[in-house]
Amino acid sequence: MSENKIPYKIYLEESEMPREWYNVRADMKNKPAPLLNPGTLQPMTEEELSVVFCEELVKQELDNDNSLIEIPEKIRDFYKMYRPAPLVRAYCLEEKLQTPAKIYYKFEGNNTSGSHKLNSAIAQAYYAKEQGLKGVTTETGAGQWGTALSMACSYLELDCKVYMVKCSYEQKPFRREVMRTYGASVTPSPSESTEVGKKILAEHPGTTGSLGCAISEAVEVATKTEGYRYVLGSVLNQVLLHQSVIGVEAKAAMDKYGIKPDIIIGCAGGGSNLGGLISPFMGEKLRGEADYQFIAVEPASCPSLTRGVYAYDFCDTGMVCPLAKMYTLGSGFIPSANHAGGLRYHGMSSTLSQLYHDGYMEARSVEQTSVFEAAEQFARVEGILPAPESSHAIKVAIDEALKCKETGEEKTILFGLTGTGYFDMVAYEKFHDGVMEDYVPTDADLKAGFDGIPRFPGNMK
Ligand SMILES: *Cc1c(COP(=O)(O)O)cnc(C)c1O
Repeated sequence: MSENKIPYKIYLEESEMPREWYNVRADMKNKPAPLLNPGTLQPMTEEELSVVFCEELVKQELDNDNSLIEIPEKIRDFYKMYRPAPLVRAYCLEEKLQTPAKIYYKFEGNNTSGSHKLNSAIAQAYYAKEQGLKGVTTETGAGQWGTALSMACSYLELDCKVYMVKCSYEQKPFRREVMRTYGASVTPSPSESTEVGKKILAEHPGTTGSLGCAISEAVEVATKTEGYRYVLGSVLNQVLLHQSVIGVEAKAAMDKYGIKPDIIIGCAGGGSNLGGLISPFMGEKLRGEADYQFIAVEPASCPSLTRGVYAYDFCDTGMVCPLAKMYTLGSGFIPSANHAGGLRYHGMSSTLSQLYHDGYMEARSVEQTSVFEAAEQFARVEGILPAPESSHAIKVAIDEALKCKETGEEKTILFGLTGTGYFDMVAYEKFHDGVMEDYVPTDADLKAGFDGIPRFPGNMK
């Protein structure tokens, strides 16, 4: 099809929306390593996981075999509130860069939560409701995940208790109020409402909290409250599965116009949007049907793939969660102030870690000010104000497009634009005022985190 026939935005019809999620694990020869019970070092059983997570979600977590999993009708109906998400041809950015590359992005920011997280929030809330539960608990840092979950829970009339990292709770009141608008209760963490919270407060009076600590509180409340379970917004296999709706839709839109990407790029925090975007394409690569270049982009301040180690580690700072094998900086690693709050997790999805380890995917780390330069350049020509997290992908997409300008190659680039940045204007302000800093941890900084990774035979020599 000739190029000028490709519209600025490709929207699928509602009838063309995916009816199934695609489970990339089914096509992986080396499956992601199982979660381990930290006490026995044996793989977590369905029963053990069901104490913390909803039953159907546990099945999805452990399912390495079924490639297609039906999306229940009620979830598909909810998806229709904000999906299909457009696949945008970045004609204006191409023009600005004077590149022969063809750039596309899948825009997931077109909903009140402002990110792709709603795709998994509704799925997790749905299965909790189906199980007859009263409510769910979770943690949130900057607030995107908590907002998404609040929206999903209010739709299904499920109670939602969010533990929000205290410094965000105090400094970022807007997302907190969005969550309360959707009926969630929001507690600053650490709090006096849990044993682990009290313990942390006694040991560190005046602490402003951390994501790891909020996870520990949310898990405690879920396991001690009748009719509640805990849900998590990234990292887990089930979350990547739900996020495959991004990739399946993107691929359907591209197939409709005969477009084949050469390079697929996504930002990587816990790995859910990237895993979801690349899934169906990675499936083709794993089955030997097609080849693509996949690039994960992470902040230089929190470089789990590019500088981490591949080992079993704790998922949370309180060390109450199972051990996951992943590229990690150590659960005690505290990334310095980085405005891409959603990319500050110390580890990476086990599925993506395995694919990276097996050489199916590349990773790059980028520094903060270069990310905001790319964000601003993008906003000025494409109109959308991107989230700082998403802008990591923009940065590398622009780098690749500029390489094409040098070589004259007409590569097709697809990247995930995960969300909007309206709640991140303090970061944009710092950038504009020239006071944003690029922090890159030293090897000594990283070593302190690695030292906290559990030692047992076969793990961390
Ligand atoms: C949470 C978030 C991310 C990072 O999370 P992943 O699980 O790695 O996708 C990226 N972009 C936005 C806008 C987010 O809210």
